[in-house]
Amino acid sequence: MSQTIVVIPGDGIGPEVMEATLGVLEALALGLRFEVHHAGLTALERVGELLPPDTLEAIGRHRVALKGPLTTPVGEGFSSINVELRRRFDLYANVRPARSFPGMSSRYEGVDIVTVRENTEGAYLAEGQSLSADGEVAQSLIRVTRRGSERIARYAFELARRTGRRRVTVVHKANILKTTSGLFLKVSREVAREYPEIDCREMIVDNACMQLVLDPSRFDVILTTNLFGDILSDLCAGLVGGLGLAPAANVGTEAAIFEAVHGSAPDIAGKGIANPAALMLASAMMLEHLGHADAAARLRNAIADTLRSRDRLTPDLGGQGRTADFAAAVSERLA
Ligand code: ATP
Repeated sequence: MSQTIVVIPGDGIGPEVMEATLGVLEALALGLRFEVHHAGLTALERVGELLPPDTLEAIGRHRVALKGPLTTPVGEGFSSINVELRRRFDLYANVRPARSFPGMSSRYEGVDIVTVRENTEGAYLAEGQSLSADGEVAQSLIRVTRRGSERIARYAFELARRTGRRRVTVVHKANILKTTSGLFLKVSREVAREYPEIDCREMIVDNACMQLVLDPSRFDVILTTNLFGDILSDLCAGLVGGLGLAPAANVGTEAAIFEAVHGSAPDIAGKGIANPAALMLASAMMLEHLGHADAAARLRNAIADTLRSRDRLTPDLGGQGRTADFAAAVSERLA
């Protein structure tokens, strides 16, 4: 039976980069089916809700979604639609590859790092936030669990094993956050023992930032908690030339949602010049997740070759191509 993918075009440049991405997926002729549902501002305008029930139901049923950027208006019930989606579907693993592409301007060549970030607990959730009546004292809870730490550590080591990666660096702050970061580190060490072929290193987060900037080749897979992962994965994206080429996956046991890291770019929305490469790379991650590893590699190679040849690149990459031109350049390489 052919796989159905829930497609959420999203806000701003979302529909433009999604159309381009669906075009290259069609060119792969895998017989995938696409079911379009809405979320974000677009959904709010259409049906009066940021996350309509039919969208949630479709993700639950088909278990795989490709999502454009979503805008969360202030004061609409939850602080972020993306965080709400992670919570609803328990998408505990946020996976962010940062890979250099030849010919793209970046600080380093040959970078190939995957950040595996715990996505459902820790400081980033800002649970129990409060501000005293006089506005002088703010606080928030950091909750880390053995279960949460164990499943993300296992995800990172399994990913390393599956993809032939040799090193996992656990990034933490257990010297100061002795209980929360301490539990994460302790459980990661326990899981690491089950993967003797993988070199497990540990690094305190501040040192990890410095080492990444000095010499990214020391890193392979980074395993870390939610807030550190949020920051480190953007740092890694910066090492390879910014967010224009940065894809992400949010994976849980019940569903997986694939997306570009960049936002809705309202400044260029509707102009037809958005760079669709990050969402295309996210769709390659999705193909891998669906068991189409060969097609994923073909798509990645076609994107890499288009970038290397500087063929019809969009203005953010220094070219004069439009979104549709870049998509055509990638599709022609798939033909
Ligand atoms: P949001 O609130 O949705 O996060 P933002 O404008 O704060 O939006 P981004 O959407 O990530 O953040 O945009 C940051 C800058 O990068 C903008 O100038 C935008 O035009 C540019 N940008 C982001 N994504 C792309 C893209 N795919 N192609 C071209 N430029 C992009």
